[in-house]
Amino acid sequence: MLDRRKFIATSVFSSAGILLSKKILAKPHVVAVKNKPVVISTWNNGLEANKAAWKILAAGGRALDAVEAGVMVTESSQDCCVGLGANPDRDGFVTLDASIMDEHFNCGSVAFLERIKHPISVARRVMEKTPHVMLVGIGAQEFAVAEGFPLEPQKLSPEAQKAYDEWLKKSEYKPPAINVENNGEHGPFAPSRFDDGTWNHDTIGMVAMDANGNLSGSCTTSGAGFKMRGRVGDSPIIGAGLYVDNEVGACTSTGQGEDVIRVAGSHSVVEMMRQGLSPEKACKKIIERIIRIKGEKAKEIQVAFLALNKNGEVGAYAIHGGFSFALRDNKNEKLISAKSFD
Ligand code: ASP
Repeated sequence: MLDRRKFIATSVFSSAGILLSKKILAKPHVVAVKNKPVVISTWNNGLEANKAAWKILAAGGRALDAVEAGVMVTESSQDCCVGLGANPDRDGFVTLDASIMDEHFNCGSVAFLERIKHPISVARRVMEKTPHVMLVGIGAQEFAVAEGFPLEPQKLSPEAQKAYDEWLKKSEYKPPAINVENNGEHGPFAPSRFDDGTWNHDTIGMVAMDANGNLSGSCTTSGAGFKMRGRVGDSPIIGAGLYVDNEVGACTSTGQGEDVIRVAGSHSVVEMMRQGLSPEKACKKIIERIIRIKGEKAKEIQVAFLALNKNGEVGAYAIHGGFSFALRDNKNEKLISAKSFD
């Protein structure tokens, strides 16, 4: 039998619950979507990835299927920074992180996954076939194999082997967060700047809205080249590298993962959009927050956010120039240079 205190607590809770549930269940005002379907993804690899996503979106398919198929293109390419062709960690192993999220707050991710070609599809299986959100390391690999994903050979791509051999000559471990006084040299962390000022990067993030107005997102990466073994970045962390709220918008990120995690980056951008900011302004606000936190050290890192709102509007913002994103909708197929703080 309930004692008096418990009874009062229970009855207060349940009557408040009834009141609350009416408020909570009320749907927000939904604006007429001006631009659908639409897909956006990070960096120039996004152009090819968007093509695969667009095939699904244009045929009336689901955004979730589009964002998975889209980034699989980048995961497959051996000459890219994403997937098994990418640079290894400092011990010589390629370790992959990925996440996916749909329009119902379902989400799945894998981290520190080795020898599996399509981490994004394993992330989707985690979402759809387990009661969990995240699997890591050997457990993620065992799950993938049990799900029928082939275990690929433990072998670096020729490009990655070359880069690793070069890196081994000095074996310097100088992430900017640890060594900011690095005399202008960039450490192993990504994205690092090439001599011509463009950025090297290791991630594709993609967000899309389908013809039904539903949003989904995906993010997949090899993380930072020559990273410490076991290091996991923002990409597989729901709320950091990716977030989708079907009532508001979706966001993904690229750049120095540690600094995205610190501010729950993608979730924060979505919250800014909930407060009425455009995708670009929302991304800018969180980039400014990172710059405020990092101070002078912000010079050493690149972070970029890419967002899509429920209205089909897109926007991005980065700390430094050089970040671009690919857009595909009914009118456009193009690469757009994002605005940046400097
Ligand atoms: N965000 C990725 C990470 O920190 C790297 C990148 O975007 O290049 O793992």
